[in-house]
Amino acid sequence: MKTGIHPEYVPCSVHCSCGHEYVTRSTRSVLRVELCSECHPFYTGKQKVVDTAGRVERFQRRQAASEAARSAQAAQKAAAAAKKAPAAKKK
Ligand SMILES: [Zn+2]
Repeated sequence: MKTGIHPEYVPCSVHCSCGHEYVTRSTRSVLRVELCSECHPFYTGKQKVVDTAGRVERFQRRQAASEAARSAQAAQKAAAAAKKAPAAKKK
């Protein structure tokens, strides 16, 4: 082994978001993970929603906002069309 080029190999405590902790060895002393073999659906056999920091809610909020913007735009367009040709109203 050449000296001075290898990272230090230290005991590492791994903390999962489910609360499970275990010790292994790594070049880092602490690891924080979202899934481990104690809570991953592949090992537990149970279905689980893996939602990191409210991503689903954020997506639903964004979707609702874009739909509202689209309908507002459509209403604006309809109003502009009605202004241009008040006699030829289509609805
Ligand atoms: Zn876990």
